[in-house]
Amino acid sequence: MAALAGARVAIAEESRMGGTCVIRGCIPKKLLVYASQFAENFADAPGYGWTIGERSFDWATLIANKDKEIARLEGLYTKNVEAAGVTIFADRAVFEDEHTLLLLNSQKRVTAEKILIATGNRPTREMGTSHIIPGGNLCITSDEAFHLKEMPKRILIAGGGYIALEFAHIFHGLGAHVSLVYRGEKPLRGFDDDMRTALCESMSSRGLEVLLGCEFTKVEKRGDCLHAETNKGAVIECDQILLAIGRQPNTMALHVEKAGVALGKKGEVKVDDYSRTSAPHIYAVGDVTDRLQLTPVAIHEAMCFVETVFKNNPTAPDHVHVASAVFTTPELAVVGMSEEKALLMGHTVDIYKSSFRPLLHTLGGRPVRTMMKMVVDQATQKVLGVHIFGDHAAEIIQLAAVALKLGATKQDFDSTIALHPTAAEELVTMRTKSYSKSP
Ligand code: NDP
Repeated sequence: MAALAGARVAIAEESRMGGTCVIRGCIPKKLLVYASQFAENFADAPGYGWTIGERSFDWATLIANKDKEIARLEGLYTKNVEAAGVTIFADRAVFEDEHTLLLLNSQKRVTAEKILIATGNRPTREMGTSHIIPGGNLCITSDEAFHLKEMPKRILIAGGGYIALEFAHIFHGLGAHVSLVYRGEKPLRGFDDDMRTALCESMSSRGLEVLLGCEFTKVEKRGDCLHAETNKGAVIECDQILLAIGRQPNTMALHVEKAGVALGKKGEVKVDDYSRTSAPHIYAVGDVTDRLQLTPVAIHEAMCFVETVFKNNPTAPDHVHVASAVFTTPELAVVGMSEEKALLMGHTVDIYKSSFRPLLHTLGGRPVRTMMKMVVDQATQKVLGVHIFGDHAAEIIQLAAVALKLGATKQDFDSTIALHPTAAEELVTMRTKSYSKSP
């Protein structure tokens, strides 16, 4: 976009083009999620009259097909960048001074008037008291999970965030025995409490093992198996251990200090409202700034950077009403505030809740339920938050985000005619208030 706006642009990329999302994040993850959902669809099929014959799953085929698609996308990204007239240096860039970057492999120096740091982040391996636990190097992270030679039969997953939960459901759906080890009381800290409860119940009813208030203290390899010792004295045997305990900004060894760029406590690049760092000609966007770690947010921040710097139109990124989804099975999607956050922000809230059995599962027979919740400011009747735990929640929440962006009230939702029969219609037919609460 900067090149199309007339700038002479070069990108230094030490790995593959496309970044975390395309190469080792959202896209390959979603392909694995699709793969993991076939087993449940097969289980539902007899209720609809289908007889399903013998079936088997081949991990190697899935990974090879996924890799092919990622390579195709990488090619497209590279082509688009080149078509915009951008020079690509397949190299690692580090700062030498405020305007000079050294390309490590070629030892070439490149100078620039403006510099954008968009180096992203990577999975952390520091557990417990911020150190790598004994045997921690035997564990994998999400980066390696996409390239395992074999599918683990038993996998332990540490963490209770997006990545831990998504991989827990992927491996469970593909037939592995999954144990989720989370240090807190309930996974997905910061999400609405009712949604967290619904997710925990769903995981247990599907046969995922969830160990709460639990952390590894040591990992050992014994024969072909791994043994993880927990703070509760248990020893769990498994084939793989996946650490999904957060991500750290890619600023290590970037030598930003040589350019006068200040970092925060976690190593993130500190930026102002316009993504400008402490060096006035250097900007930073995306995960490396540790604001909202979501691809569309990074893209939005980048567009604002181009407006500000190359189109003489100072534009601050807008981080309000950003919808997001955890691609568990079913999905958990949210836009706006949780009940707890709304109360914390001083709102007296009206809460609307609905829990129902989706039509698909009436004949399918599995005891699956969908839960929806709306958090409404009592004084203005503005909808502060919409939360959905159920099939297609991510697809539904995108449009709820448009409504919230426009400042929709509960009455706006109520006056919208339902589209029947869908799950989404529940959002415009929730008439009975569940309860009200004041801070
Ligand atoms: P998160 O920050 O979401 O979760 C990290 C988890 O690890 C938390 O449950 C945290 O527990 C736990 N944890 C942190 N430190 C330790 C420790 N030292 N020992 C044990 N447990 C620990 O990180 P993820 O890696 O899951 O994801 C990173 C970000 O990437 C997400 O926040 C999200 O923004 C983005 N993402 C988005 C996706 C999507 O949009 N679908 C998919 C994947 C990632 P606690 O809660 O107690 O702090």
